[in-house]
Amino acid sequence: MTTTVETALGPVPTSELGPTLMHEHIVTRSPGVQENWPHLWDRAGIVAIAEQKMADLHARGIRAIVDLTTVDLGRDIGLIVDVARRSRVHVIVATGVWWMPQRYFSGHGVDEVAALFVRDITEGIGATGVKAAIIKCATDTAGVTPVIENILRASARAQKATGVPISTHTWAAGRTGLAQQAIFAQEGVDLRRVVIGHSGDSDDLDYLRTLMERGSTIGMDRFGLEHFLPTAKRVEVIARLAAEGYAPRMVLSHDANCWSDMLSEDDKRRTRPLWHYNHIPDDILPALRRAGVNDDQIDQMLVRNPRAIFDAR
Ligand SMILES: [Zn+2]
Repeated sequence: MTTTVETALGPVPTSELGPTLMHEHIVTRSPGVQENWPHLWDRAGIVAIAEQKMADLHARGIRAIVDLTTVDLGRDIGLIVDVARRSRVHVIVATGVWWMPQRYFSGHGVDEVAALFVRDITEGIGATGVKAAIIKCATDTAGVTPVIENILRASARAQKATGVPISTHTWAAGRTGLAQQAIFAQEGVDLRRVVIGHSGDSDDLDYLRTLMERGSTIGMDRFGLEHFLPTAKRVEVIARLAAEGYAPRMVLSHDANCWSDMLSEDDKRRTRPLWHYNHIPDDILPALRRAGVNDDQIDQMLVRNPRAIFDAR
C-alpha cells in the first residue's frame, strides 16, 4: 500500500517527498494588518519572491518543505497554494496555533479548539479542500500559560483523533520541550509522533537527549539564526548526537521565510545574512560532513526521518 501525505496540491506518496525541510514558512505576517492597510501588501511581488526562492531550493535538491504557519502567524492558504502551483517543491501545510493566540483560543475550551484543527486535517482549510498534515503548537518564554495549555491539549487531542504528527515551537533555553512532552503524554499522545522544534537553539545535550529518549524527534531547525546559537555550535551538537546514534531522532530546517512583515528582505540580508532557504544545502551539509556526519546519517535526517514522520498514522 502506498502511504500518502496531504500537501497544498493534494496527496503525494511519502516515498516522493525526498529531501525535506521540516520547519519553514512561505509567508508570515500579522493577521489583520495587511487587510486593513492594503498598501503594505504587494501580493504579486511576494508570490514572485517566493517562486524564485522555491526554484532555488529545488535546484539544490530539496523536494519538500513543511510550512508551519499558523493562524496567528497569518496563514494564508490561498497564497500557499499559489506559490506551490508555481513550484516543483512539495509544500506540506499545518493547522494549529503559535504562541501569540487570538482571544478566541482562550475563550473556547480544549475540545472546541481541537475540533478546528481536526476540521483542517480531515475536511480541509476553509473552502479550499487543502488538508493540513501536521499540527503546530508553541511554548515561548512565558511557558505554559492557560491559553497555551488549552492549545497544547487541543493539539494532543487532534493528534489522537487524526494520527497526524505534532510539531512545536519551543524556547529551548528554558527547556520548554519537556513541559510540552508532559502535557502530550498526559493526553495519551505517543511521543514518537511529536517533533520538538527549535531544539537546535540549544547546546544542552542532556536536555536534547532526554527529549529523544522519550521518543520524540528534535528539530535542528533554525540554521542561520546566529543570535540563538551560532552555526558552528549547531553543527557541533548535531555531529556529537549523530555519533552517539541519535540521527534517527533529528530533522533539519531553517525556520526561514520567503517574505515576512516583521523584517524586510533588505533587513534580513543585513541582520541575518545566513537565514535563508539555501543555507542548509549550500553550507550546513558540507559543514556536517567535515564534522564527521556521514552521508547515510544526512539522508536519515533529511529524507528518511521526515518520511517516517508522515508515514506513521
Ligand atoms: Zn517557525
